[in-house]
Amino acid sequence: MNPYQEDIEKLYARLHSGAQGLAQAEAADRLVRYGANRLEKIRGQSAVARLFKEFTHFFALILWLAAGLAFFAEWRDPGQGMAMMGYAVVGVIIINGVFSYWQEYRAEKALAALSNLLPRYTTALRDGRAMQVPVAELVPGDVVVLVAGDDVPADCRLIEAFSVRVNTANLTGESLPKSRDTGTAGDDLAALRRDILNAGTSLVSGKAKAMVYATGMHTEFGDIARLTQVAREPLSPLQKEIARLSRLVGLFAMLLGVVFFFIGRMLGLSMWDNLVFAIGIIVANVPEGLLPTVTLSLAMATQRMAKKNALVRHLSAVESLGSVSVICSDKTGTLTQNRMSIRQVFHSGELLDPAELDGAEQLYDIMRHCHELRRVERDGQEIWQGDPMEVALLESLPPGGAVYPRVDEIPFDTERKRMSVICDTPQGRMLYCKGAPETVLPLCREMLGDGQRLPLGDDERDRLLGAHEQMTARGLRVIALAYRNLPSQPNHRESELVFAGLVGLVDPPRPGVADAIAACRLAGIRVVMVTGDHPHTAGALAREIGLAQNPLAITGDKLRILSDADLLLLLDEPDLIFARTSADQKMRIVQALQRKGEIVAVTGDGVNDAPALKCADIGIAMGISGTDVAKEAADIVLLDDHFATIVTAIEEGRAVFDNLRKFLTYILTHNVAELAPYIAFVLFKIPLPLTVIQILALDLGTETLPALALGAERPDHGIMRKPPRPRNERLLNWGLLMRVYLFLGLLESAGALAAFFFVLYGGGWHAGQVLGMHDKLYLQATAACFSAIVLMQVVNIFMCRHPIYSAFSRNLAPNRLIAYGIAFELGMLLLIDYTPLGNALFGTAPLAIEVWLFMVPFGLGMWLLEEGRKALVRRMAQRKARVSGTP
Ligand code: ADP
Ligand code: MG
Repeated sequence: MNPYQEDIEKLYARLHSGAQGLAQAEAADRLVRYGANRLEKIRGQSAVARLFKEFTHFFALILWLAAGLAFFAEWRDPGQGMAMMGYAVVGVIIINGVFSYWQEYRAEKALAALSNLLPRYTTALRDGRAMQVPVAELVPGDVVVLVAGDDVPADCRLIEAFSVRVNTANLTGESLPKSRDTGTAGDDLAALRRDILNAGTSLVSGKAKAMVYATGMHTEFGDIARLTQVAREPLSPLQKEIARLSRLVGLFAMLLGVVFFFIGRMLGLSMWDNLVFAIGIIVANVPEGLLPTVTLSLAMATQRMAKKNALVRHLSAVESLGSVSVICSDKTGTLTQNRMSIRQVFHSGELLDPAELDGAEQLYDIMRHCHELRRVERDGQEIWQGDPMEVALLESLPPGGAVYPRVDEIPFDTERKRMSVICDTPQGRMLYCKGAPETVLPLCREMLGDGQRLPLGDDERDRLLGAHEQMTARGLRVIALAYRNLPSQPNHRESELVFAGLVGLVDPPRPGVADAIAACRLAGIRVVMVTGDHPHTAGALAREIGLAQNPLAITGDKLRILSDADLLLLLDEPDLIFARTSADQKMRIVQALQRKGEIVAVTGDGVNDAPALKCADIGIAMGISGTDVAKEAADIVLLDDHFATIVTAIEEGRAVFDNLRKFLTYILTHNVAELAPYIAFVLFKIPLPLTVIQILALDLGTETLPALALGAERPDHGIMRKPPRPRNERLLNWGLLMRVYLFLGLLESAGALAAFFFVLYGGGWHAGQVLGMHDKLYLQATAACFSAIVLMQVVNIFMCRHPIYSAFSRNLAPNRLIAYGIAFELGMLLLIDYTPLGNALFGTAPLAIEVWLFMVPFGLGMWLLEEGRKALVRRMAQRKARVSGTP
């Protein structure tokens, strides 16, 4: 028994419902019975399986091998302390695995929490009234009311349909919209059924009333979800680069390990010792924790963005945001408040203040009826839902006035820029039309003057256009209103209209928009307004918000006849804005900008905006005024529809990249300091200054949290004062590598080795003397080397916070995590140096106070030298700027 093969009355009977929908109480009962209308998350892997994976990936296996070898060595040759090493390595595997798991878990939780920030609502009839109902609370038997741009919330059968077309791409993969109506006939496949709307599809046009018959996992979309398993989001370019980097460094480490193995053989180290030692080097240098840390820092960035009202839908958007070079922005609602009020009216040949208007019944009738608003109840309040301009027109009406039944409507679209409704009135069937004057006036034959219909001659037209000119020059959004009596023939409906008047509305700019635009200018980001509104209105706003001094407005008509080559040339014009454009032209503008090598962010809200949103590097949908379709197509949803939010998100996006660099600088510095002792050991035949276990303690212990803190830094104040990052810019560039390897790393190595020798010589050691592994002096000396590295890394955190700003710069935002990271690092250091267990596990011994005092100048020295280097670089940058004349 299929819901589409039976009579609609039978469906009502079976679902115990009717065209009026359910009662609220009944719906609540059914919700308990049928469950929430949402797709169950198909359980990917269990927590245990995923934790298991953290201990069995390639690098972990190498560690297990190392541990196994250590235990084997202990068994073959007891008493060398190899068992201790084995336990330590196992401990390290566990710590590292749990830490990686925790990071991935946190990242996933953060991303999952984001989707809850965008509650989905639909309009359903409850107790006979249209209400805003959370999609999750729909039940079989509910009647939903859908308009163009809405997602179909559940599987339902059409009760009423006005020119309904749906996009079924999610379900069937076909991208061409399909018509749907209440007629019966067609295929057996439910997705092809004409009178069925399926969950997972969306309304491209028209209006529908439909009865829900299946929800959640019982829908066909639910079936598909069950079959296909939720695919994990693919890695973002940055994550891929990190993975590549890890592999590269890993390979390098392997090579190093092999080389050291042979060197060790030549030096006559025992076979087992040597093997474990080589594997230790490999593992120590492999950045196994890098990818989870990067993923977590991306996820944390999405959380920070969400707090600022930018909801990221794909992780990869976070990084692309940092290289955005052009923002194509809507005007209405994004740059302006979308809170309109009537400022001027042109009626009966006169330009009037709205208060002076009287006897304009015909005008009022048009304003009262010609709209696509829905009266819905939300949280117990009746509100008008839809275009704020239409709400403004309605709310400006004098009280009273009859409302006539509507028989049909021709919806608004950005191509036609007008809309009409047809009503049955006491004067007969009437068509009420409103829209952009350019598209409505050519349809008018007559005009209304002093309550009479007069021919619309050339003189009248000129007066009218003059008034229109005056209104748009003030920055008003002007709408033309017209009507006609409809005779019975339904064809030429929007023609031979009677012009009734012009209405000019103000829509003030959003507070903060001017600042955001100025910020974009400083940050080398271009803002291009793309609007459907009149060029003068758009130009006035552009001047007001500082977007352009002398706006050059290109209209859609001009754009249409422009060749691609001309368009590319035109885009060099600095004060360019686009007016009277339709949604498909937006896409053309985006593509032309991309051809010029720009990274383009574009905003959109309508169904027709979806292609442009998809094709842009960053598609940004409006959370409040946007359609479901636009949100679905976008990478980012603005919860407050505010332009300034885009700029904040870009700032965060830039910070993410910078943070990863800080983090890498920090990590690579200690890698150098870890390697130096081995080179010294081989070259100068000294005792090994830093043991493998101590390296692991650094990499996977003390360094983890401080590195994470650097990955979560807030944007510094200078971040929006430099041009966007080129998309192909690598994370690791020469500047960073030189700073790490030839500067910070060297200084740190010097400090570590100096501390080692300070203890050795202080204990009476002389060059060439061999020390036993358990010799107290040796334990103290390695502890000194280890501790010096940790201490200098504590200093280094501050160095790494910015490549050229001083550690004390007020441009750097405070970061509490850094304090936690340092506390953790020092706490661990004390445990390792001063507890018997720490001493036993990591081969250390307590240090005397002089040793610490000896280290201090090295830390301070590194600090001073790095500050000096930064000051020098800043000075050079300033001089360069002065010469080239840019700020
Ligand atoms: P915007 O960029 O200002 O949002 P739109 O593409 O939404 O532009 O609208 C373009 C033009 O179409 C407006 O300037 C207005 O003249 C007209 N228009 C917009 N909305 C409506 C509507 N609901 N009914 C009639 N005309 C409209
Ligand atoms: Mg609009």
